[in-house]
Amino acid sequence: MYRWVCLLLVMATIVGRSTAQDMCGYKKCSALPVKPGYVNVHLVPHTHDDVGWLKTVDQYYYGANNSIQIAGVQYILDSVIPQLEMKPSRTFIYVEIAFFYRWWREQDADMRERVRKLVNNGQLEFINGGWCMNDEASTHYNAIIDQMTLGLQFLNTTFGECGRPLAAWHIDPFGHSREQASLFAQMGFDGFFFGRLDYQDKANRLKYQNMEEIWRASPDDLGPAADLFTGALYNHYVPPGGLCFDIGCGDQPVEDDMSLHDYNVANRVGIAVNTSLEQAKHFRTDHIMWTMGSDFQYQAAHTWFKNMDKLIAHTNSMENTKVNLLYSSPSCYVYHKNNASAAPPVVKFAHNNTADFFPYADQPHAFWSGYFTSRPAFKGYVRRCNNLLQVCKQLEVIGGPKFSDKVPLPTSERLREAMGVAQHHDAVSGTEKQHVANDYAMRLHAGAVECQVTLLYLLQHDSLLCSFAFQTTRAYQTYIMRIMCLNDLVIVSMTLQQRMAKDSALPPIPEFCNYLNISVCPVTENELIKSFTVTVYNPLARQLTGYYVRLPVNGDAFEVITDPKGINVITQVTKVSPRTQEIRGKRGKATHELVFAVTAPALGFSTYFVSQSSNISREKLPKNEMMTSRPRSLGEDQEIHNEHISVVFDGKTGLLKSVVNLETKVTLKVNQGFYWYNSSAGNNKASSRKSGAYVFRPNSTEAIPIQPEKSVITNVVSGQVVQEVQQMFSPWVSQAVRLYSGQRHVELEWTVGPIPIKDGLGKEIISRFDTDIMSNSTFYTDANGREMLERVVDRRLTWKLNQTEPVAGNYYPVNSRILIKDKSKQLTVLTDRSQGGSGLKNGSLELMVHRRMLYDDGYGVGEPLNETGVFGDGLVVRGKHYLLLDTPESSGQLHRALGEQLYMAPSILLSLAGSISPAQYRKDFHTNFTALKRELPSSVHLLTLEMWEDDTVLMRLENQLQKAEGGTTQNVSLPGLFKTFEVDVDSVEELTLGANFPAANLQRLTWNTESGQTKSEALRCWDAGTTTVSLQPMQICTLRFKLQRNQA
Ligand SMILES: [Zn+2]
Repeated sequence: MYRWVCLLLVMATIVGRSTAQDMCGYKKCSALPVKPGYVNVHLVPHTHDDVGWLKTVDQYYYGANNSIQIAGVQYILDSVIPQLEMKPSRTFIYVEIAFFYRWWREQDADMRERVRKLVNNGQLEFINGGWCMNDEASTHYNAIIDQMTLGLQFLNTTFGECGRPLAAWHIDPFGHSREQASLFAQMGFDGFFFGRLDYQDKANRLKYQNMEEIWRASPDDLGPAADLFTGALYNHYVPPGGLCFDIGCGDQPVEDDMSLHDYNVANRVGIAVNTSLEQAKHFRTDHIMWTMGSDFQYQAAHTWFKNMDKLIAHTNSMENTKVNLLYSSPSCYVYHKNNASAAPPVVKFAHNNTADFFPYADQPHAFWSGYFTSRPAFKGYVRRCNNLLQVCKQLEVIGGPKFSDKVPLPTSERLREAMGVAQHHDAVSGTEKQHVANDYAMRLHAGAVECQVTLLYLLQHDSLLCSFAFQTTRAYQTYIMRIMCLNDLVIVSMTLQQRMAKDSALPPIPEFCNYLNISVCPVTENELIKSFTVTVYNPLARQLTGYYVRLPVNGDAFEVITDPKGINVITQVTKVSPRTQEIRGKRGKATHELVFAVTAPALGFSTYFVSQSSNISREKLPKNEMMTSRPRSLGEDQEIHNEHISVVFDGKTGLLKSVVNLETKVTLKVNQGFYWYNSSAGNNKASSRKSGAYVFRPNSTEAIPIQPEKSVITNVVSGQVVQEVQQMFSPWVSQAVRLYSGQRHVELEWTVGPIPIKDGLGKEIISRFDTDIMSNSTFYTDANGREMLERVVDRRLTWKLNQTEPVAGNYYPVNSRILIKDKSKQLTVLTDRSQGGSGLKNGSLELMVHRRMLYDDGYGVGEPLNETGVFGDGLVVRGKHYLLLDTPESSGQLHRALGEQLYMAPSILLSLAGSISPAQYRKDFHTNFTALKRELPSSVHLLTLEMWEDDTVLMRLENQLQKAEGGTTQNVSLPGLFKTFEVDVDSVEELTLGANFPAANLQRLTWNTESGQTKSEALRCWDAGTTTVSLQPMQICTLRFKLQRNQA
């Protein structure tokens, strides 16, 4: 009796998610015609709409460029809506909100009302609900959360509670990350389904009825709050063989007029019944799911629905078959699975999987681990754009409110949407056609420019930067126009340009230099310019110190001063390296780089004043400020060191030889070099699979060294600010190893490309560290920038692996870091973008930095991954690895702090100072600003700060240390935290991670598992009535609050 009362209570809470008159969500599920004692087959009508792949996202939406692929998403939605209206039993799910949003904007009030009705009665259900269906291997958690939030927010404001997806749906991504499941659980999803898993794993799971389980996505940190019911789909995401009814399918329709020749009901129903019974053998409970749809299907939805109607009717009318077909959805399937697990006979699910689903192989010689690195430049750009987007959103909060000028002003919106699209599993993954990759990059660029302009006008408008007010509205408008012109956002007529130029009362306009990595910056490298300012905005919630800016300049004597004390900063001027000059071509002309350390306050900026200084003679500088540059003496080991680290290079080869942490005395013997794997060629059959955009398949387990016979060192730069060893491995592979004063890490800037292909061989380039660490075939990689996962060569945690590809089968996604360790030392290498990585041999660690192939791997993209770059001869990619050496105990906090600083790097604004003196500049402009009254604790990361509605803000705080890294509970008090506004503490509401649901109302389903009943409660961080946020290790706290603007 007691049990039944409990069950009813749970039911009531679940039902309570929707309004009384609506019939959506679990209320709808509870009314579905399931039959106890039957195999209940949940038919899920769906379309899989890639947000770009063979065609661009817009081409897919409109159905343009159909010679590539007949696909038009607008027609799908046009076609499905009337079909649902025709019969209330029919259902349909929609997933990719980037498309739905486009369609919705084009609909009139009448159609919108019709759609709302279908959503409210549960016929049209949103599943997953992100802007796209994101890739899981090369995405960063910050960007995943943002893209999910963008979609979920649209659904929430448009449809309310009935628009809230209850299940996650990643039917196509090529392998699955544990962090993705953890994030989904934190978003409040009750179930998660995917289509692709290793073929050996799948066979094993089918055998033991483990296709569905409760995945433990954060076993050591978040615990049950990250547990998630997860199902691997039986038939990928396509319909059962013979039962595809799309207009483009070749299967037979249900022909049920007995008077006609081709009457085939027995055949059609026979397939349905046999398939059901066979599938049911492999699943627990008497519920199974069929994915009735595929890529871009339902453009003529009636062919599907007409035949499914008939199939359901005829199958269900058969006596003694014990098969019951019904229109359903993934969430209703989860609901009924859960019901079957709650009531006797209780069905229990496995609850022991703490692994992930990487790497994915669908055949013995097809491991999809190439895309971890594919399109490395684009992967780097996506990471940089995430950085910029966070800065942009922060300043919209700090510098707002939005003001109404007559000039149309850009916002962060375009970049939010472009980033949402770029997370798609054929975007940042690098598995799209070249023209589509170009389109993604263009979208990001357009969004990035708008964001940069947003930053500039917000900094000016709210007197954050300028300490004076604009005299007239026109002066301000003219100023904004100038910013937009200068940043290529608007093109204005010559007359207007001339008029603007005359308005000398306007302050100098800051600019961004987006090509600093190749020493190009028009503002700083112009030799006629005698002085400029450098404003450093720091998006971290704590002071940034010892961050080095490196600016292209002409001349070798500069004075850099900082405010408020007007102190001279120690600088170093080094020659632009020959390699940089070579790859930048004619795009820049700086002869030198000016390097100095900057400090910027938490969530704020500092401005530095730089002037060319002809009268500072070198002799007057202290000796240690003098720059020296000398080639290494023959045969002698080369050492560079600062106060924390010593790095030694071999006298003969010029390769990295040892690294010593001077504080802890941890010493590493290391040999670092570049190697290439020769990509397999073949016919793509069985053991002749080619390496391509998806698949990595070297034709030998041994990588070939890229190394000249003589020493790789071409130059050594030593100075007080930075010491640098320049290495040349081949005309197309070089590296600069840098040690900056005060920094605890070694920076390795690698430059790779154009990869030569004239020899007809595809090449996949790695950087490998061979060390004396006793790593015992074990290495660790991060999952989407969050938790670390242990990897052991040739091992899978949940099944016994038959390894068929010893290299590719041991490659894993590295989003931010990879490490190896033994009892006394740990080597951690952080990356600036997602890459594939491994640790194949004892003490070894490798990262794939670039790849170029001549063949397609046969998985649909239909092009070899052969990026030819701006000059057509092959893409050159430049990126950085950051090396940390310490004891295993101390390494966690170090790499977390560095990792945070890398992906939330400061934004650098440069501005011509003209004839303004530093003193005058300090009078006219603020040179130091912070939006925080106090810094956050060192392990608390300000993950999100963005405007939500008019006067509400969305903020996420994250405890970024795992327990194993020394993470403990952290508290942050909200009153008096910000300077430009006050948090209205009474209005604070804790939301689920996707920000679409109050955390207090979340009641996730409870499951019976082989290890007991799951505790589904979400971790909470905020109690109404308190003023302090409390964060457990790895917990993310999502809060929405009203803000009250403080008067400056
Ligand atoms: Zn897809």
